[in-house]
Amino acid sequence: MLLVAEPSLGEEEKAALAAVIDAGWITMGDRVRAFEKAFAETQGVPDSVAVSSATAGLHLALAALGIGPGDEVLVPSATFVATANVVLHVGATPVFVDVEDPALPLMSLDDAAAKVTGRTRAVMLVDYAGYLPDAGRWRAFAHAHGLRLIEDAAHAAGVRGAGTIGDAGVFSFYGNKNMTTAEGGAVVARDPAVLDRVHNLRGHGMTTSVQQRLSGHASGYDVIAPGFNYRMDELRAAIGLVQLAKLPAWNEKRKDLTGLYRTRLADACPDIAVPFAEPRASAHHIMPVLLPDGVDRPRVADSLRADGVQTSVHYAPLHHFTYYRERFPGVSLPRTEAFARRELTLPLHPKMDAADVDTVVRALARALSSQREGIAA
Ligand SMILES: *Cc1c(COP(=O)(O)O)cnc(C)c1O
Repeated sequence: MLLVAEPSLGEEEKAALAAVIDAGWITMGDRVRAFEKAFAETQGVPDSVAVSSATAGLHLALAALGIGPGDEVLVPSATFVATANVVLHVGATPVFVDVEDPALPLMSLDDAAAKVTGRTRAVMLVDYAGYLPDAGRWRAFAHAHGLRLIEDAAHAAGVRGAGTIGDAGVFSFYGNKNMTTAEGGAVVARDPAVLDRVHNLRGHGMTTSVQQRLSGHASGYDVIAPGFNYRMDELRAAIGLVQLAKLPAWNEKRKDLTGLYRTRLADACPDIAVPFAEPRASAHHIMPVLLPDGVDRPRVADSLRADGVQTSVHYAPLHHFTYYRERFPGVSLPRTEAFARRELTLPLHPKMDAADVDTVVRALARALSSQREGIAA
């Protein structure tokens, strides 16, 4: 089965884990710090804070930027549900914003502008599929309305500029992302004081770590905020350091496979649209395509599965989920809904090769033509 996503793990990761176990120091040690520095270097920023997940990181970013009860945060609906859940975690209200277009499924500036109220305090941008929103236009928008800008860069690890569009950026190292620590994430921030606050809130609001105290650099600690336990451990950081070294080559491979998909799909499936036709910086995290309107997507997915190809959908719109529908009724986002109705995610990961892309495209062409015959009959 060709999977939509697959982690690349091997002997180096095993050896890195064994080394941590042999060392005997498994939490909050040198490897977490080394990983934070190395990840920051990859992203071209001075520093980062490693966390237990991107969800934890997004929660910390909102908290560190002072977003709380009474505040509204503009969020896309075409994203993973964590993007909106964390807004509720800090007691603020998510306000759903449409995408630019089904062929450009990034947050719409015009719709965001239409949804700004006196209570709006922040915008949560998502680098959907790894493609970066227009930094200049969003910075100008945030500045004009006095808003904080937070970037959910869960899809965009390894791309220069990702995570740096606004005040804070958050990356995910979950098992299906471009690099993995099994569970894990990292936060970057433009203002070092904000990153300090993220760091403090990650560990219970404590002012020193157990390592600093053991090494004699500090004798006690104070607590300056009711923080969380959102730490990364040494085992994950050790895997992260190995994965990080391979990330640039993997992202290049993803880019090449995406280019090949675009060429092959244009040839074999001309009525399928591929979003992000214009060049744009990207980590090529997933391969979303748009089926022709009216095509029975579950039947296409079944047909592909029978040919050994897994597919998925990114994403069911958040405003259609039971919790959000009941709490925020009447939300209508026509472009997001059209996108979500037609979207199908094809396999994309660095273990694939050109022959795998051909296999997927042939299976997709077959599924579409048999459905067309079915409709004609
Ligand atoms: C994966 C993902 C997250 C959550 O990441 P975790 O590390 O699993 O918490 C958040 N936002 C988006 C867009 C994601 O794809």
